[in-house]
Amino acid sequence: MERGGYSTGLDRPLGRLERRSVAVVGGGIVGVSAAYAAAVLGGGRVKVSLYEAAEAGHSGAASYDATRVFRYLNGPDPVLTAWARESHALWDRVGRLWGSAALHPVGVLFLVERRDGASVRGRHVWPYDSAEGWLEDSLRVMDEHNAPYRRLSAPALARVYPQFHGPAIEQAVVDPGAGFVEASKAVSALLRLGIGAGVEYHPNTRVTRVEAVGDGCVLHTDGGGEARFDSSVIAANGWVGDILPALAGTLALTEQPLVYLKAPVEAPELSVGRMPVFISLSSDCYGFPIHDGVIKVADDNPGRAIDHPDERREAEEGYVGRVVSKVSRFVPALKDASVDRTHVCFYDRSEDGRFILDAWDEEARVVYGCGMSGRAFKFGPVIGERLARFALSGRRPSDLEGFRAR
Ligand SMILES: Cc1cc2nc3c(=O)[nH]c(=O)nc-3n(C[C@H](O)[C@H](O)[C@H](O)COP(=O)(O)OP(=O)(O)OC[C@H]3O[C@@H](n4cnc5c(N)ncnc54)[C@H](O)[C@@H]3O)c2cc1C
Repeated sequence: MERGGYSTGLDRPLGRLERRSVAVVGGGIVGVSAAYAAAVLGGGRVKVSLYEAAEAGHSGAASYDATRVFRYLNGPDPVLTAWARESHALWDRVGRLWGSAALHPVGVLFLVERRDGASVRGRHVWPYDSAEGWLEDSLRVMDEHNAPYRRLSAPALARVYPQFHGPAIEQAVVDPGAGFVEASKAVSALLRLGIGAGVEYHPNTRVTRVEAVGDGCVLHTDGGGEARFDSSVIAANGWVGDILPALAGTLALTEQPLVYLKAPVEAPELSVGRMPVFISLSSDCYGFPIHDGVIKVADDNPGRAIDHPDERREAEEGYVGRVVSKVSRFVPALKDASVDRTHVCFYDRSEDGRFILDAWDEEARVVYGCGMSGRAFKFGPVIGERLARFALSGRRPSDLEGFRAR
């Protein structure tokens, strides 16, 4: 039992254990979470091997960064709000075992903006016609889950969060249980917890192919190695097509640059405790309070299309200026902030933005997760647990029904 007596997948036993060995491919948040979950669920009776082409959490992976947004308000799909609650409990567990909090619930502020008299809708709220429609349906789901939130009128916004102001702000809603996860630290914590629970870690080992064969599966690695397991979890994100070639080209890969602004001097109002994470549902720009001396801001809209995650380049000319100008429409203190650095990450977008969490073969000897569409970090421990359970039991967890490949 975790936070507030809330039970998580790790508390639910697997039942009869027929599969005794599982390989996990990919050492991002999904892979390290799946490996840890497999070791915990297996209770010492399952051999768990984690393969990573480089090092878990390396700087080219999507899970690499100081922070990632965590939120309860995730749109109209009730599964995601339920997963947020379970993830919160699991992040707390990781923090407790690791000895340092992984999740910081500083709140997330959602803004709807109006320009030229009309409300503006970002891609984030697709397929809704308006940001308001998306927000109202999302808040209905929050009500159904008894997840707290607060609407802030203009005077309340000025009182509670005076750092956010501007003529375009039309609506403001706070998700107070939300915040950010210390991303790279959480990946290494989960890796270490997994190793402590018995996971065999194989860094710098690229898996070139996996096949479901008879009552198991065979992994082929760089240099001609082969290993047999009862089942496997492929958590290779946008690289999935290198291992399961039929998936190559099914995801839309885009570059997603991040901008780290030097914190303006004398700006305590931008610090953790005073400033929440913020997301504009109209411009799709978002940002964080000061963390390690910088303020991270980014645009969630698709960047340059790429064919493979290794193809990434520098942020496009003009990107930094555009993002800073968009966020300073509602955080004016950032208008003249100077840039500390940029980093180009990537999204592996599925057609409809839903994660793809499915089995490759009928017996679920090979299960996989991809199409994370820039949203999966917050749910990493839950997605990892479900994929591990699926691979170890051969039975699809009921809440993965809606995440089949389409
Ligand atoms: C700019 C940006 C901002 C984001 N913001 C948020 C956010 O605020 N909140 C949120 O919830 N999510 C966010 N996301 C999304 C989230 O970070 C990703 O969905 C998540 O990290 C994906 O994790 P993963 O483990 O699937 O993939 P990755 O972290 O990419 O890990 C995949 C791993 O597989 C390894 N691998 C690949 N091929 C092989 C192979 N053949 N053999 C062995 N290993 C292999 C890779 O080396 C890599 O380490 C963001 C993403 C980006 C890019």
